[in-house]
Amino acid sequence: MKFIADEMLGKLAKWLRICGYDTAYFRHIRDSELLRISVAEKRLLLTRDTLLIRRRGLKNFLFISYDEPVDQIKQVIRELDIPYPSEPFTRCIMCNNLLEAYTREEACRDVPEYVCKTQEVFGRCPGCHKIYWKGTHYERMEKILRELF
Ligand SMILES: [Zn+2]
Repeated sequence: MKFIADEMLGKLAKWLRICGYDTAYFRHIRDSELLRISVAEKRLLLTRDTLLIRRRGLKNFLFISYDEPVDQIKQVIRELDIPYPSEPFTRCIMCNNLLEAYTREEACRDVPEYVCKTQEVFGRCPGCHKIYWKGTHYERMEKILRELF
């Protein structure tokens, strides 16, 4: 299941990435480009834009009815009948890339000392080079995921 989210759905896109779903999102993108990518890459378009749907006669889309990100993700889970993600925390939240394995030794050159001392497993985004580990932020997000599904 692959998605592309419109400009208004940045937080939803992040949550789908946290779940491990391939979700394209661009902060500034023309409607025509949004639709082109949706078709070319077979991505379900998630949109808040009723005009876009009507004007273009879209078929492969899900209209998001809510303003709050938590309600938006619940809607997607409900309407697409998505099970609890099998591979959460495998993508970069910022750029959607799959994270690469990063050894503790490598990571310890770049992360704060206490992280190096307390964490075992690291991942790195090949695009923006952001390093991920299972810290308190991770635990908080995991708790939210369990509540969502
Ligand atoms: Zn990244």
